[in-house]
Amino acid sequence: MKPFILIVEDDPQIRRFLRATLTAESYQYHEAVTAEDGIAQANSRRPDLILLDLGLPDRDGLEVIRRVRESSQMPIVVLSARGQEKDKIAALDLGADDYVAKPFSVGELLARIRAALRRSSGSAQDGAVVCFGRVEIDLEKRLVKVNGEEVHLTPNEYKLLQVLIKHPGKVLTQQQLLNEVWGPNHLDQAQYLRVYIAQLRRKLESDPARPKHLQTEPGIGYRLIVD
Ligand code: CA
Repeated sequence: MKPFILIVEDDPQIRRFLRATLTAESYQYHEAVTAEDGIAQANSRRPDLILLDLGLPDRDGLEVIRRVRESSQMPIVVLSARGQEKDKIAALDLGADDYVAKPFSVGELLARIRAALRRSSGSAQDGAVVCFGRVEIDLEKRLVKVNGEEVHLTPNEYKLLQVLIKHPGKVLTQQQLLNEVWGPNHLDQAQYLRVYIAQLRRKLESDPARPKHLQTEPGIGYRLIVD
């Protein structure tokens, strides 16, 4: 059975594009045009994933995230206008899994959907050993190897890497990362992240200036690409 996706979007042109894209991949889908209907269908139909527009006619799309998260961890991918960093951060902090900025490409949209579905099915994270590029991380032994050679990480470097590994492919906001690694009293210390991400890149990436795995989402946060 192909996954079932709920589209919450009021723009008929974008809905048409989404229908065509999802049909071509034989996903099943339902549509809602308002936030209220989106919340109702999320509760009644229990989709595998929600594609959510933030600018809806009746209520803010953020309200849909808030309401759905009261009872479910189903993946939510936000469709946001380019440049609206504040909205994206708010959506992610409320528990959205990811976003694609309009106008988006078919390839980008499908990649985000696949990654979110993979994370929610848990298959990406079952093993005790995680590999990406030339890096191998043994989560039980807390051992990090690059090209088979052990690399020393400081406790905070390891903690930061661990948080990113827990959510492969997902963009994590600066606030989420700061909270997980340094705690709630350090939410305004974005410079910690810049420093520690740079250190991790130097230790793990083959070209730290052009990172393939530890990626910056400008103005939002960071994302670990594992495949
Ligand atoms: Ca809209």
